[in-house]
Amino acid sequence: MGATEAFTQTLDITHWIAGAPHRGSGDRRQTVWNPTTGQPARQVLLGSADDVGTAVAAARAAQPAWAEMPPIRRARVLNAFLALLNQHKDRLAAMITAEHGKVFTDAQGEVARGIDIVEFACGIPQLLKGDYTDQVSTGIDNWTLRQPLGVVAGITPFNFPCMVPCWMFPVALACGNAFILKPSERDPSPALLMAELLKQAGLPDGVFSVVQGDKVVVDALLTHPDVKALSFVGSTPIAQYIYETGAHHGKRVQALGGAKNHMVVMPDADLGQAVDALIGSAYGSAGERCMAISVAVLVGDIAERIVPLLAERTRALKIKNGMELDAEMGPIVTREACTRIENYIGIGVEEGARLVVDGRGCKVPGFEGGFFTGGTLFDHVTPAMRVYREEIFGPVLVCVRVPDMAAALALVNAHEYGNGVACFTSDGGVAREFARRVQVGMVGINVPIPVPMAWHGFGGWKKSLFGDMHAYGEEGVRFYTKQKSVMQRWPDSIGKGAEFVMPTAR
Ligand code: NAD
Repeated sequence: MGATEAFTQTLDITHWIAGAPHRGSGDRRQTVWNPTTGQPARQVLLGSADDVGTAVAAARAAQPAWAEMPPIRRARVLNAFLALLNQHKDRLAAMITAEHGKVFTDAQGEVARGIDIVEFACGIPQLLKGDYTDQVSTGIDNWTLRQPLGVVAGITPFNFPCMVPCWMFPVALACGNAFILKPSERDPSPALLMAELLKQAGLPDGVFSVVQGDKVVVDALLTHPDVKALSFVGSTPIAQYIYETGAHHGKRVQALGGAKNHMVVMPDADLGQAVDALIGSAYGSAGERCMAISVAVLVGDIAERIVPLLAERTRALKIKNGMELDAEMGPIVTREACTRIENYIGIGVEEGARLVVDGRGCKVPGFEGGFFTGGTLFDHVTPAMRVYREEIFGPVLVCVRVPDMAAALALVNAHEYGNGVACFTSDGGVAREFARRVQVGMVGINVPIPVPMAWHGFGGWKKSLFGDMHAYGEEGVRFYTKQKSVMQRWPDSIGKGAEFVMPTAR
């Protein structure tokens, strides 16, 4: 029986330290819910500063030998992990659906996008190649190489319990670091399965650890002197806190925050494609995606034509237990999140937005206790309203009407978030100008959710990212390594006597 089977037979979801399940020192724990039934499923242990200390000590002990291993051998371990991930991908997806609630087919997509990053990280020998200049001066050569940072950590959100950790640890490990993952306490199990698969793939014990928990664990990672870098993905207030506190403690930090993504629909857009795109990207994963579209910016007369179609499709959403293969939307992750979303709908009504479809109070037959809410559609929303300004992170789509492209761009650019944006149009000139002028990190032209592929890197602008480098891709390799420059010459080219002037090329 593998360690993961052991987990599923006990109630507690443990940590993973030094290559084995670890119960830790404290007795704090939290319920992990089944959002479909609304019943408690298991308990996750909440780690302490001591547990972080144990994980960091194990990581410090294991990291030098891992870093010393030639990159191609590290890549072979990742290749073996890749094969195991592919073998276990449906099991991982089912675990995600069980704890998060997103529909199984969507969870399969999440795992596939995580696997993409592992494939990218398998190319690490090529990615770590440095620059070399022969003869920077007579008999002298200069080159740069990139070396790992040491022990690094990742803190991840509930909404992608497999994919977002995969934005971080495959690249960090490939670069020769040891990695400590603090997953969301709301869906902590996929991290443990990935830890076990890494061990099976041949990763030395201690190089990858999981410390479950909440702010206590995060703060211990933020202040531990041996943690050299932190990657964070989550809401903006916490991202800003992580960035500031980590920097204060001398760490390298990338902290990806929240979002309010707009999709601009021009009057010349293909109406059917725009409707499909809005419905899928606003209500897929119940809107619990940092790249979900939550604002439709309707330009000119398109509003009159598109709102009735959106309303019809929103009412027809198949909201079900996510394991049913025709389900389009599952439950919300927790009861509190469901209540928060439904409260926002009340706020929108009070603010004077027109509630076209009200998703509140949705009941799914057989799962009456589940944390379900339906798709909600607002029209005539204005930029002053909270339902426009704030991230709701649920299946709520708000429509803002604007007269022309200039007004649409001004609206998007004035928003404090800048994660993703889309423009639907059939005019190439409009598309080009939009992509060039918009103040957002990831842009889709007739693509509603433009999540960049593994080798391009992911990151928003403004309050959607604190830090200098985006996640994964070559930016990820730079984030998890330090550049070193080496200049060398050999005795027969060394001149005579000490030199007191600035060396220049000779
Ligand atoms: P969250 O900010 O509540 O939690 C994220 C992580 O931070 C979790 O591991 C959590 O345990 C930890 N945390 C929570 N409160 C903390 C505190 N006070 N101090 C220290 N650590 C704390 O986010 P969430 O609800 O899990 O995820 C949803 C949010 O993540 C949304 O805002 C969404 O937009 C964002 N998100 C952003 C991206 C992106 O790439 N920009 C991707 C996915 C999710």
